[in-house]
Amino acid sequence: MVNRERLIEEFVQLVAMDSPSFDEGKVGAYVKNQLSELGFEVREDEAGVKNHGSCGNIYGYLAGDKALEPILFCVHMDTVEPAKGKAAVIHEDGRITSNGDTVLGADDFAGITAILEALRTIKEEALSHRPIEVLFTTAEEVYSKGIAHFDYSWLLSKEGYTLDLTGPVGLAAYKAPTIMAMDIQIQGKAAHAGFAPEEGIHAIAVAAKAISELTLGHIDEETTQNIGIIQGGLMSNIIPEYCRVRGEVRSYCHEKAVRETEKTKEIFQRAADAYKAKLIFDVSIGCKAYETSKDDTVVKRFEAVCKDLALPCSLIETFGGSDNNVLADFGFRGIVLATAMNQCHSVKEYTSAEELCRIAEVTRQLMLSDM
Ligand SMILES: [Zn+2]
Repeated sequence: MVNRERLIEEFVQLVAMDSPSFDEGKVGAYVKNQLSELGFEVREDEAGVKNHGSCGNIYGYLAGDKALEPILFCVHMDTVEPAKGKAAVIHEDGRITSNGDTVLGADDFAGITAILEALRTIKEEALSHRPIEVLFTTAEEVYSKGIAHFDYSWLLSKEGYTLDLTGPVGLAAYKAPTIMAMDIQIQGKAAHAGFAPEEGIHAIAVAAKAISELTLGHIDEETTQNIGIIQGGLMSNIIPEYCRVRGEVRSYCHEKAVRETEKTKEIFQRAADAYKAKLIFDVSIGCKAYETSKDDTVVKRFEAVCKDLALPCSLIETFGGSDNNVLADFGFRGIVLATAMNQCHSVKEYTSAEELCRIAEVTRQLMLSDM
Protein backbone atom coordinates (compact mmCIF):
# COMPACT_ATOMS: atom_id res chain seq x y z
CA MET A 1 0.00 0.00 0.00
CA VAL A 2 0.98 3.59 -0.51
CA ASN A 3 2.90 4.95 2.48
CA ARG A 4 1.31 8.34 3.15
CA GLU A 5 4.00 9.65 5.46
CA ARG A 6 6.86 8.70 3.17
CA LEU A 7 5.06 10.14 0.17
CA ILE A 8 4.43 13.51 1.85
CA GLU A 9 8.00 13.62 3.10
CA GLU A 10 9.34 13.07 -0.39
CA PHE A 11 6.97 15.66 -1.84
CA VAL A 12 8.14 18.25 0.72
CA GLN A 13 11.75 17.38 -0.06
CA LEU A 14 11.19 17.85 -3.80
CA VAL A 15 9.37 21.16 -3.32
CA ALA A 16 12.45 22.47 -1.50
CA MET A 17 14.54 21.89 -4.65
CA ASP A 18 14.73 24.80 -7.08
CA SER A 19 13.85 23.46 -10.49
CA PRO A 20 13.02 26.22 -12.95
CA SER A 21 12.94 25.28 -16.63
CA PHE A 22 16.44 24.49 -17.96
CA ASP A 23 17.81 24.14 -14.42
CA GLU A 24 16.32 20.82 -13.29
CA GLY A 25 19.72 19.35 -12.35
CA LYS A 26 18.95 18.84 -8.65
CA VAL A 27 15.67 17.06 -9.25
CA GLY A 28 17.26 15.11 -12.11
CA ALA A 29 20.05 13.82 -9.87
CA TYR A 30 17.53 12.88 -7.18
CA VAL A 31 15.31 11.02 -9.65
CA LYS A 32 18.27 9.14 -11.16
CA ASN A 33 19.31 7.99 -7.71
CA GLN A 34 15.86 6.81 -6.74
CA LEU A 35 15.34 4.95 -10.01
CA SER A 36 18.68 3.18 -9.71
CA GLU A 37 17.79 2.08 -6.20
CA LEU A 38 14.49 0.77 -7.50
CA GLY A 39 16.33 -1.42 -9.99
CA PHE A 40 15.81 0.66 -13.11
CA GLU A 41 18.16 0.87 -16.05
CA VAL A 42 18.63 4.66 -16.12
CA ARG A 43 19.78 6.93 -18.93
CA GLU A 44 19.98 10.68 -19.39
CA ASP A 45 19.66 12.05 -22.91
CA GLU A 46 21.25 15.06 -24.65
CA ALA A 47 18.35 17.48 -24.07
CA GLY A 48 20.29 19.32 -21.35
CA VAL A 49 23.23 19.93 -23.67
CA LYS A 50 21.01 20.94 -26.59
CA ASN A 51 18.96 23.34 -24.44
CA HIS A 52 21.98 24.67 -22.51
CA GLY A 53 20.32 23.40 -19.35
CA SER A 54 21.66 21.64 -16.28
CA CYS A 55 19.95 18.33 -16.99
CA GLY A 56 18.65 16.13 -19.79
CA ASN A 57 15.50 14.05 -19.84
CA ILE A 58 15.82 11.07 -17.48
CA TYR A 59 14.64 7.78 -18.92
CA GLY A 60 14.29 4.53 -16.99
CA TYR A 61 13.33 0.96 -17.81
CA LEU A 62 12.28 -1.76 -15.39
CA ALA A 63 11.76 -5.27 -16.76
CA GLY A 64 8.51 -6.98 -15.82
CA ASP A 65 6.07 -9.67 -16.90
CA LYS A 66 7.19 -10.54 -20.42
CA ALA A 67 3.68 -11.54 -21.43
CA LEU A 68 2.59 -7.91 -21.11
CA GLU A 69 3.42 -4.86 -23.21
CA PRO A 70 5.48 -2.13 -21.51
CA ILE A 71 3.77 1.12 -20.60
CA LEU A 72 5.23 4.56 -20.09
CA PHE A 73 4.74 7.07 -17.28
CA CYS A 74 5.81 10.59 -18.13
CA VAL A 75 6.19 13.65 -15.87
CA HIS A 76 8.12 16.89 -16.07
CA MET A 77 10.76 18.04 -13.60
CA ASP A 78 10.61 21.82 -14.15
CA THR A 79 8.29 24.27 -12.42
CA VAL A 80 7.09 27.72 -13.51
CA GLU A 81 8.22 30.96 -11.90
CA PRO A 82 8.28 32.17 -9.18
CA ALA A 83 10.18 28.93 -8.72
CA LYS A 84 13.07 29.68 -6.38
CA GLY A 85 13.11 29.19 -2.61
CA LYS A 86 9.94 27.09 -2.56
CA ALA A 87 8.76 25.56 0.70
CA ALA A 88 5.76 23.32 1.29
CA VAL A 89 3.40 24.30 4.10
CA ILE A 90 1.24 21.47 5.42
CA HIS A 91 -2.05 22.72 6.88
CA GLU A 92 -4.18 20.98 9.47
CA ASP A 93 -6.89 20.09 6.99
CA GLY A 94 -4.38 18.22 4.80
CA ARG A 95 -3.96 20.99 2.25
CA ILE A 96 -0.40 21.64 1.15
CA THR A 97 0.48 25.09 -0.17
CA SER A 98 3.57 27.21 -0.78
CA ASN A 99 4.42 29.98 1.66
CA GLY A 100 2.67 32.39 -0.69
CA ASP A 101 5.75 33.84 -2.39
CA THR A 102 6.34 31.09 -4.95
CA VAL A 103 4.45 28.37 -6.75
CA LEU A 104 4.22 25.09 -4.86
CA GLY A 105 5.43 22.92 -7.71
CA ALA A 106 2.77 20.22 -7.31
CA ASP A 107 2.84 20.75 -11.07
CA ASP A 108 4.57 18.40 -11.57
CA PHE A 109 6.26 17.10 -8.39
CA ALA A 110 2.96 15.46 -7.45
CA GLY A 111 3.50 13.29 -10.52
CA ILE A 112 7.12 12.54 -9.61
CA THR A 113 6.19 11.41 -6.10
CA ALA A 114 3.24 9.38 -7.39
CA ILE A 115 5.50 7.41 -9.73
CA LEU A 116 8.31 6.89 -7.21
CA GLU A 117 5.97 5.92 -4.37
CA ALA A 118 4.02 3.51 -6.60
CA LEU A 119 7.28 1.83 -7.64
CA ARG A 120 8.49 1.61 -4.05
CA THR A 121 5.36 -0.19 -2.88
CA ILE A 122 5.57 -2.63 -5.77
CA LYS A 123 9.17 -3.43 -4.91
CA GLU A 124 8.44 -3.76 -1.17
CA GLU A 125 5.58 -6.13 -1.77
CA ALA A 126 7.50 -7.97 -4.51
CA LEU A 127 4.47 -7.75 -6.79
CA SER A 128 4.42 -8.96 -10.35
CA HIS A 129 4.12 -5.98 -12.69
CA ARG A 130 4.31 -5.21 -16.36
CA PRO A 131 7.48 -3.82 -17.96
CA ILE A 132 7.60 -0.16 -16.93
CA GLU A 133 9.20 2.79 -18.65
CA VAL A 134 9.46 6.20 -17.01
CA LEU A 135 10.38 9.52 -18.55
CA PHE A 136 11.15 12.57 -16.42
CA THR A 137 11.36 15.50 -18.79
CA THR A 138 12.87 18.96 -18.66
CA ALA A 139 11.52 22.33 -19.84
CA GLU A 140 7.94 21.16 -20.31
CA GLU A 141 6.71 24.56 -19.17
CA VAL A 142 8.35 26.24 -22.14
CA TYR A 143 6.36 24.47 -24.83
CA SER A 144 7.87 21.04 -24.11
CA LYS A 145 11.37 22.02 -25.21
CA GLY A 146 12.90 19.14 -23.20
CA ILE A 147 10.99 16.19 -24.59
CA ALA A 148 11.40 17.66 -28.07
CA HIS A 149 15.02 16.40 -27.89
CA PHE A 150 14.20 12.99 -26.44
CA ASP A 151 15.72 10.01 -28.25
CA TYR A 152 12.62 8.06 -29.24
CA SER A 153 14.64 5.03 -30.26
CA TRP A 154 14.90 4.23 -26.53
CA LEU A 155 11.15 3.94 -26.13
CA LEU A 156 9.61 0.45 -26.15
CA SER A 157 6.08 1.40 -25.09
CA LYS A 158 3.40 2.33 -27.55
CA GLU A 159 1.09 3.73 -24.93
CA GLY A 160 1.14 5.37 -21.55
CA TYR A 161 0.23 8.09 -19.14
CA THR A 162 1.40 11.63 -18.67
CA LEU A 163 0.78 12.81 -15.11
CA ASP A 164 0.20 16.51 -15.59
CA LEU A 165 -3.36 17.80 -15.37
CA THR A 166 -5.35 19.83 -12.83
CA GLY A 167 -8.59 18.59 -11.37
CA PRO A 168 -9.66 15.76 -9.09
CA VAL A 169 -7.80 12.46 -9.46
CA GLY A 170 -9.94 10.29 -11.75
CA LEU A 171 -10.06 12.95 -14.45
CA ALA A 172 -8.08 12.43 -17.66
CA ALA A 173 -7.65 14.33 -20.91
CA TYR A 174 -7.77 12.44 -24.22
CA LYS A 175 -7.62 15.46 -26.52
CA ALA A 176 -5.44 18.57 -26.64
CA PRO A 177 -4.80 21.41 -29.10
CA THR A 178 -2.05 22.61 -31.36
CA ILE A 179 -0.37 25.69 -29.94
CA MET A 180 1.53 27.93 -32.34
CA ALA A 181 3.86 30.47 -30.73
CA MET A 182 4.41 33.70 -32.68
CA ASP A 183 7.42 35.95 -32.13
CA ILE A 184 7.11 39.09 -34.22
CA GLN A 185 9.79 41.74 -34.63
CA ILE A 186 9.20 45.06 -36.34
CA GLN A 187 12.16 47.14 -37.36
CA GLY A 188 11.34 50.81 -38.01
CA LYS A 189 13.55 53.89 -37.85
CA ALA A 190 14.24 56.23 -34.95
CA ALA A 191 13.81 60.00 -35.29
CA HIS A 192 13.18 62.94 -33.00
CA ALA A 193 9.48 62.92 -32.21
CA GLY A 194 9.28 66.73 -32.08
CA PHE A 195 11.80 68.01 -34.62
CA ALA A 196 11.49 65.43 -37.39
CA PRO A 197 8.78 62.83 -36.78
CA GLU A 198 8.29 62.33 -40.55
CA GLU A 199 11.84 60.98 -40.82
CA GLY A 200 11.03 58.09 -38.50
CA ILE A 201 9.31 54.75 -39.09
CA HIS A 202 7.05 54.09 -36.15
CA ALA A 203 7.47 50.43 -35.16
CA ILE A 204 4.81 50.58 -32.42
CA ALA A 205 2.30 52.11 -34.85
CA VAL A 206 2.90 49.17 -37.20
CA ALA A 207 2.21 46.73 -34.37
CA ALA A 208 -0.88 48.68 -33.28
CA LYS A 209 -2.32 48.74 -36.79
CA ALA A 210 -1.78 45.00 -37.22
CA ILE A 211 -3.14 44.04 -33.79
CA SER A 212 -6.24 46.18 -34.31
CA GLU A 213 -7.06 44.06 -37.37
CA LEU A 214 -6.65 40.71 -35.61
CA THR A 215 -9.42 38.63 -34.11
CA LEU A 216 -8.35 38.06 -30.52
CA GLY A 217 -9.99 35.57 -28.19
CA HIS A 218 -12.15 32.93 -29.86
CA ILE A 219 -11.80 32.80 -33.63
CA ASP A 220 -14.25 29.90 -33.71
CA GLU A 221 -15.42 27.30 -31.19
CA GLU A 222 -12.13 25.35 -31.33
CA THR A 223 -9.62 28.09 -32.08
CA THR A 224 -8.27 31.05 -30.09
CA GLN A 225 -5.67 33.74 -30.66
CA ASN A 226 -3.85 35.96 -28.19
CA ILE A 227 -1.26 38.71 -28.22
CA GLY A 228 0.35 38.45 -24.80
CA ILE A 229 3.47 40.62 -24.87
CA ILE A 230 4.29 43.89 -26.57
CA GLN A 231 7.62 45.61 -26.05
CA GLY A 232 9.13 48.63 -27.72
CA GLY A 233 10.21 52.22 -27.50
CA LEU A 234 12.93 54.02 -25.55
CA MET A 235 11.67 57.49 -24.67
CA SER A 236 8.54 59.53 -25.23
CA ASN A 237 10.39 61.96 -27.51
CA ILE A 238 11.74 59.30 -29.88
CA ILE A 239 9.87 57.61 -32.71
CA PRO A 240 10.27 53.96 -31.68
CA GLU A 241 12.43 52.08 -34.12
CA TYR A 242 11.77 48.61 -32.78
CA CYS A 243 8.81 46.68 -31.45
CA ARG A 244 8.52 43.04 -30.46
CA VAL A 245 5.16 41.33 -30.18
CA ARG A 246 4.52 37.82 -28.94
CA GLY A 247 1.37 35.77 -29.06
CA GLU A 248 -0.12 32.42 -29.80
CA VAL A 249 -2.84 30.61 -31.73
CA ARG A 250 -4.32 27.38 -30.43
CA SER A 251 -6.84 25.02 -31.95
CA TYR A 252 -8.00 21.42 -31.72
CA CYS A 253 -7.50 21.38 -35.49
CA HIS A 254 -3.82 21.59 -36.39
CA GLU A 255 -4.42 22.81 -39.96
CA LYS A 256 -6.67 25.59 -38.67
CA ALA A 257 -3.98 26.77 -36.24
CA VAL A 258 -1.46 26.87 -39.08
CA ARG A 259 -3.90 28.74 -41.32
CA GLU A 260 -4.79 31.37 -38.68
CA THR A 261 -1.11 31.97 -37.92
CA GLU A 262 -0.53 32.46 -41.64
CA LYS A 263 -3.36 35.04 -41.75
CA THR A 264 -1.85 36.92 -38.80
CA LYS A 265 1.49 36.99 -40.58
CA GLU A 266 -0.16 38.51 -43.67
CA ILE A 267 -1.83 41.21 -41.56
CA PHE A 268 1.51 42.13 -39.95
CA GLN A 269 3.22 42.11 -43.34
CA ARG A 270 0.64 44.52 -44.82
CA ALA A 271 1.01 46.86 -41.84
CA ALA A 272 4.81 46.75 -42.09
CA ASP A 273 4.65 47.44 -45.84
CA ALA A 274 2.31 50.41 -45.32
CA TYR A 275 4.90 52.00 -43.03
CA LYS A 276 7.94 50.72 -44.97
CA ALA A 277 9.10 48.84 -41.87
CA LYS A 278 10.89 45.49 -41.85
CA LEU A 279 9.18 42.46 -40.39
CA ILE A 280 10.56 39.24 -38.92
CA PHE A 281 7.73 36.84 -38.17
CA ASP A 282 8.86 33.66 -36.39
CA VAL A 283 6.45 30.85 -35.74
CA SER A 284 7.16 27.71 -33.79
CA ILE A 285 4.85 24.82 -33.09
CA GLY A 286 4.61 24.69 -29.29
CA CYS A 287 2.72 21.44 -29.53
CA LYS A 288 0.59 19.57 -32.00
CA ALA A 289 -3.04 18.55 -31.52
CA TYR A 290 -3.97 14.94 -30.79
CA GLU A 291 -7.03 12.93 -29.93
CA THR A 292 -6.73 9.48 -28.37
CA SER A 293 -9.68 7.18 -29.02
CA LYS A 294 -11.89 6.59 -25.99
CA ASP A 295 -11.95 2.92 -27.02
CA ASP A 296 -8.18 2.57 -26.77
CA THR A 297 -6.74 0.18 -24.16
CA VAL A 298 -4.86 3.11 -22.64
CA VAL A 299 -8.24 4.64 -21.75
CA LYS A 300 -9.97 1.37 -20.88
CA ARG A 301 -7.18 0.41 -18.46
CA PHE A 302 -7.45 3.76 -16.68
CA GLU A 303 -11.24 3.40 -16.42
CA ALA A 304 -10.85 -0.10 -14.97
CA VAL A 305 -8.32 1.11 -12.37
CA CYS A 306 -10.60 3.98 -11.31
CA LYS A 307 -13.48 1.54 -10.97
CA ASP A 308 -11.38 -0.80 -8.80
CA LEU A 309 -10.45 2.12 -6.57
CA ALA A 310 -14.03 3.42 -6.48
CA LEU A 311 -12.90 6.73 -8.00
CA PRO A 312 -15.28 8.64 -10.26
CA CYS A 313 -13.64 8.61 -13.69
CA SER A 314 -14.21 11.20 -16.39
CA LEU A 315 -12.59 11.94 -19.71
CA ILE A 316 -12.26 15.51 -20.87
CA GLU A 317 -10.78 17.64 -23.60
CA THR A 318 -8.10 20.02 -22.41
CA PHE A 319 -7.14 23.26 -24.15
CA GLY A 320 -3.64 23.10 -22.72
CA GLY A 321 -0.60 21.32 -24.08
CA SER A 322 1.62 18.80 -22.31
CA ASP A 323 4.43 16.39 -23.10
CA ASN A 324 1.74 13.99 -24.31
CA ASN A 325 1.28 16.19 -27.39
CA VAL A 326 4.87 15.53 -28.34
CA LEU A 327 4.63 11.81 -27.60
CA ALA A 328 1.44 11.63 -29.70
CA ASP A 329 3.26 13.23 -32.60
CA PHE A 330 5.52 10.15 -32.60
CA GLY A 331 2.54 7.84 -32.91
CA PHE A 332 2.35 7.16 -29.18
CA ARG A 333 -1.13 6.66 -27.65
CA GLY A 334 -1.60 8.36 -24.33
CA ILE A 335 -3.83 10.29 -21.99
CA VAL A 336 -3.03 12.93 -19.39
CA LEU A 337 -4.08 12.21 -15.82
CA ALA A 338 -5.21 14.70 -13.19
CA THR A 339 -2.37 14.64 -10.69
CA ALA A 340 -3.23 16.28 -7.38
CA MET A 341 -2.45 19.81 -8.54
CA ASN A 342 -4.74 22.81 -8.28
CA GLN A 343 -4.50 26.49 -9.27
CA CYS A 344 -1.25 25.74 -11.03
CA HIS A 345 0.99 28.50 -12.37
CA SER A 346 0.13 30.75 -9.44
CA VAL A 347 1.38 31.30 -5.89
CA LYS A 348 -2.02 29.95 -4.77
CA GLU A 349 -1.16 26.50 -6.13
CA TYR A 350 -2.09 23.70 -3.72
CA THR A 351 -2.42 19.98 -3.32
CA SER A 352 -3.56 17.71 -0.52
CA ALA A 353 -2.27 14.60 1.22
CA GLU A 354 -5.38 12.66 0.14
CA GLU A 355 -5.03 13.53 -3.51
CA LEU A 356 -1.29 12.79 -3.52
CA CYS A 357 -2.02 9.33 -2.10
CA ARG A 358 -4.85 8.83 -4.59
CA ILE A 359 -2.74 9.52 -7.68
CA ALA A 360 0.05 7.31 -6.30
CA GLU A 361 -2.54 4.56 -5.86
CA VAL A 362 -3.85 5.02 -9.42
CA THR A 363 -0.30 4.93 -10.79
CA ARG A 364 0.48 1.79 -8.83
CA GLN A 365 -2.63 0.02 -10.15
CA LEU A 366 -1.82 1.02 -13.73
CA MET A 367 1.66 -0.51 -13.29
CA LEU A 368 0.13 -3.70 -11.92
CA SER A 369 -2.71 -3.97 -14.42
CA ASP A 370 -2.55 -6.96 -16.78
CA MET A 371 -4.90 -5.34 -19.27
ZN1 LIG B 1 2.69 20.66 -15.73
